[in-house]
Amino acid sequence: MKWWWKLRTEPQHLWAEVISSLHHLSTKPIDVYSKKSLSGVWNNIAGIRKALDKKGIPVTSILSKPISPHGASWRCELSPDGTYTVRALRQRLDYRPHNNVEKFCWLKVFPLKVNCFIWRAAMGRIPVAVELSKRGVSVETKNCLMCNEGEESTDHVLVDCPYARRVFEGVFGWCGMSMEPFHSVKELVDSASRWGRCQKKRELLLAIYYGTIWCIWKSRNERVFKKILHPKLKVIDFIKSMTYLWVKNTGEIIRMDWATWSQCPLL
Ligand SMILES: [Zn+2]
Repeated sequence: MKWWWKLRTEPQHLWAEVISSLHHLSTKPIDVYSKKSLSGVWNNIAGIRKALDKKGIPVTSILSKPISPHGASWRCELSPDGTYTVRALRQRLDYRPHNNVEKFCWLKVFPLKVNCFIWRAAMGRIPVAVELSKRGVSVETKNCLMCNEGEESTDHVLVDCPYARRVFEGVFGWCGMSMEPFHSVKELVDSASRWGRCQKKRELLLAIYYGTIWCIWKSRNERVFKKILHPKLKVIDFIKSMTYLWVKNTGEIIRMDWATWSQCPLL
């Protein structure tokens, strides 16, 4: 995988130019790394795709080329700063659910960055004050700026913080469910994986949970970096519209109009 990353991010190097030319990569989709009919060392390296597929990790969930206002550039979705490290891939390969816990579910309907964020959050590996401090990064305060009541750990800011709880209360009410006493991202995600008997509705609930966690994190960032604290109703409205657009766009798990969705998404 290291060589795939180098091929994409250092295309000016002679070896990368030779590989690209031999395998006609400039004319191939961005998730293709080799021409199968050729043999040799590079095709052995390219064989990692099969190994990753067997582990249920598609290469597109690791390397992507998102388009931003500054153009398209390659990034590794396994690390917060978008650069590839062997450690990040090792963590992804080693990720195993705890006892009696369902497997982490990658939702195709959601952008890769959201799935990766939730996956990292479920392991407690997102750049919150407590985690940064543990890694020797100097932080102004370890306090949660959403409530000023607790330390900013992953589970606190995304689930246990009074602000997050108020948002979740609204989301549970919208879904017609009573609020359950979750204290961690993992508990929340795992409970959705086991919820109900209908696979499609379960995926919808999971999508709503992922969307809620993602929006709480965006609100946290607005608070930390722009000093803006969004009211919970605004965040809940955003969760409703964002999850609707994402699940609707794929057309895979929902055939519901906006009016019905905004009233009760799990009907
Ligand atoms: Zn808090």
